[in-house]
Parts: sequence; C-alpha cells; structure tokens
Amino acid sequence: MLSMKTSDVTVVGAGPVGLLLACELALHGVRTTVLERLTTRADTIKAQMISGRTYEMLAMRGFAPAVDAASEEEATRLAWNSRGSTGHFAGLFKLDGLPLVMLSQQALERILEARARDLGVEIRRGVEVTGLDLGSEYVVGCDGGRSTVRGLAGFDFPGTGPTLTGYQAIADVDGDLPNGWHRTPAGVHASGPLQGRIMLIEYDGPPATREVTRENLEAALRRVSGRDVRITRVHTATTWTDNTRQVTTYRRGDVLLAGDAAHVHSPFGGQGLNLGLQDAFNLGWKLATGDSALLDTYTAERHPVGDRVLRNTLAQVALTRPDPRSRELHALFSDLLDLPEVKARISAMVQGTDIRYETGCDHPLAGTFLPGLDLSSGKGTTTVLDGVEATVRPDGHLSWIGPR
Ligand SMILES: Cc1cc2nc3c(=O)[nH]c(=O)nc-3n(C[C@H](O)[C@H](O)[C@H](O)COP(=O)(O)OP(=O)(O)OC[C@H]3O[C@@H](n4cnc5c(N)ncnc54)[C@H](O)[C@@H]3O)c2cc1C
Repeated sequence: MLSMKTSDVTVVGAGPVGLLLACELALHGVRTTVLERLTTRADTIKAQMISGRTYEMLAMRGFAPAVDAASEEEATRLAWNSRGSTGHFAGLFKLDGLPLVMLSQQALERILEARARDLGVEIRRGVEVTGLDLGSEYVVGCDGGRSTVRGLAGFDFPGTGPTLTGYQAIADVDGDLPNGWHRTPAGVHASGPLQGRIMLIEYDGPPATREVTRENLEAALRRVSGRDVRITRVHTATTWTDNTRQVTTYRRGDVLLAGDAAHVHSPFGGQGLNLGLQDAFNLGWKLATGDSALLDTYTAERHPVGDRVLRNTLAQVALTRPDPRSRELHALFSDLLDLPEVKARISAMVQGTDIRYETGCDHPLAGTFLPGLDLSSGKGTTTVLDGVEATVRPDGHLSWIGPR
C-alpha cells in the first residue's frame, strides 16, 4: 500500500549492519541516508568469517558472486587456511553444520557500501550524530556497542558487566606457538586460521585500556602461553571483553536499533556480525512498509534470537575459564559434544539455522528460512514445498505453507 510507505530513513553508522540495512531500505524504494563519524573505514581486525546461513541470506539478494570473489582473493593474499572450519563453541572445534565463509569484515563492508551507493543511498562520512533531530521519518541506530542513538532515545540496556580482557591481533611472532585453541592455567591463546592471527584471553576483569601496544600484547602472550615467544611487529590489534547486554525493545516510536547497538556480547562462536546482519534483513522490508504493527514484529522476532546468543556466549565464557571447576565443565562438555544430537543442537544454535519465527501457521517449516531462492528484487514469492504452495516473505522466511 503506497500510502503507508515510509519515505525516508536516517541510518546512523556505516558498519556492516548500517550498510546492509541501507541496501535493504533502498531496494524497497526508501530514501536512505547513512551518517558515519569516521572519514574512512576502520581497518582494525574484527570478524573474519560469516556463517553459512548469513551467506545464504546474502546470496538471496545477489551478493554471492562478490562475496565469493572477495573470499577467494583474501584466501590467496592472506594465506588463510580455513580447511575444515565449521564453527566453534568455546574453542571446542567439533561442530557440524553449514560451513563458514572466510571473509574479513572490512571486505564485506566494502561490498555492502558499493551496493548501497549503486542503489542510491547517500553515505555521509565524517558526520558524528549527537542528537536525534535528523529530519527523517525514522532513525535507526546501527552505531555499534557504545551507541549514541541508544542513549539519546532512552533505551534500557540491562545485562552483565565485563570480566575478562581479550586481545585479537595480526602480529609477527618469533618463537614456537602452536596453531588452534589452547587453554592454560593463565587463560586461552589461539592462533590461525589467518596467517599471524592471535587471540588471547585473560580472566582478570575488563581491559584496562583499549590501546594495544607491541609490549603489552607480547607480555600477555607470554603470560597466557607460558612460552618464550616475542612479538616483533603488530599489524593490527584490538581488545574485547564479555560485556553482555541487550536493549529491552528494539523500537521506541520512530527510533529503532540494529546490530551491536541493540546487543553486545563476547565474540565467542563468531556470532555478533551474523546476528546484526540478520537484524537488518528482518527490519528493512518491515520499516519500508511504514506499517507500525508489522514493525513491532521486528522486536518480537529478533529480541529472542539476540537473547539466546547472549546466553550462549556467557556459557562459553564459563566453559573456558581456567579455574578447576570450569576445567571439569569443559571436559564434560567436550565429551557431550561427541554425541551427534548435542553437536547438531549446539551447531544449529550458533549458526542460527534453527531460528523459527511465529507466523500463525502450524506447519513445522513455517517461520524458517528457505535457502536457494532469488529474492534480489526484495519482494517475497510463492513456491511449492512437497507439493504444497508456500509463501515466502521478503527476508526469505516461509510465512505460510498449505491452504489458507
Ligand atoms: C575482536 C572481535 C572479533 C569479532 N569476531 C567476530 C566473528 O568472528 N564473527 C561475528 O559474527 N562477529 C564478530 N565480531 C563482532 C562484530 O565485529 C560486530 O558484531 C559487528 O561489527 C557489528 O556491526 P555493527 O554495524 O552493528 O556495528 P559496528 O561495526 O561497531 O559499526 C558501527 C558504526 O557506527 C559508527 N558510529 C558510532 N557512533 C556514531 C555516531 N555517534 N555518529 C555516526 N557514526 C557513529 C562507528 O564509527 C561504526 O562505523 C567480533 C568483534 C570483535 C571486537
């Protein structure tokens, strides 16, 4: 219905979630402006892969050729060794499920930004938002974990505080450091699959500073690994922690939140980027309609999904702590993961392949995502499943199966 259509939206933040949301809105004919405080894209190492499910969703919009090309280019240039990567849970590399697609967050952002510009989105860099009077019908805060929009609009953001210092870096290491995840009495250290990538965890409270120097990274690596290793050069490095919070609603009137602005948690299981991108797929078409009741289903559908990720990341933190009780919990969990049902359940949870939205239809597949469709026009479609007609929403989820 044209009369209900949203005419313009301001998206705050040109991270992956803001850029994908802008693409979705523009695809549905909404005039979209993205405001980003940084003048150029940040090159700090963050996510290095997307889940199979996120890949399938991007593919439904025609992103697969660009994603495949970037992934292959990075695999060659950066000597990524992703063989056998299927996802991890608390460093227990035993998960089945859809394969991961190795792709740096920066490469994904480049792809999304190019598509957004092609679709006519105005991206204004070097603009820091400090107030909400932005002159558009709706404002969406995609401005990350320290979201200004969230604070300005008065969203509640309850949760638990940080308990650990995590590091992620690409560095040149001199000395013997084994690949894979290693738990030690002092924490966790991991190397690979990307050449030079190290990840460290010390369970000593939140990071004292966001600044990572060669010296403090080396000192942490030596403490955690107990090895006589040196770091000769740091190419990129960041700290992270397990601050775990989620807004109580994703919408307050004409202000909405998506991605890290709505939920923060530790990067265990590599879920944050996927969660945020899937928020954007859920929100974009609904916001474009201007239908307030439909827009409220955004919180109803995505809040429980985010909540589950928060809870499983807290569990992963508990599983990796170095104290004797957590060590035993880890050993027990490791045994349980040998059971196919347990593997399948945890794998589906981390990959989000078991997400099922409430649609009012009681067919077991209703509300689930249907991969393999071409929805590049942004419109839903109908298809036939087991000889029965099925209706697919613009975000690729089955809304109804069978006769009405
Ligand atoms: C070390 C590390 C490893 C990770 N690994 C993984 C992984 O393997 N898999 C995974 O799925 N996720 C991973 N994540 C999580 C993932 O990086 C985040 O979930 C993702 O970046 C969230 O995207 P976003 O667009 O919501 O926010 P961001 O990427 O934080 O983007 C927010 C944007 O908003 C801009 N902004 C902020 N405030 C303002 C303002 N006031 N005005 C204008 N612009 C503003 C910022 O400059 C930024 O560009 C990792 C994170 C970290 C830190």
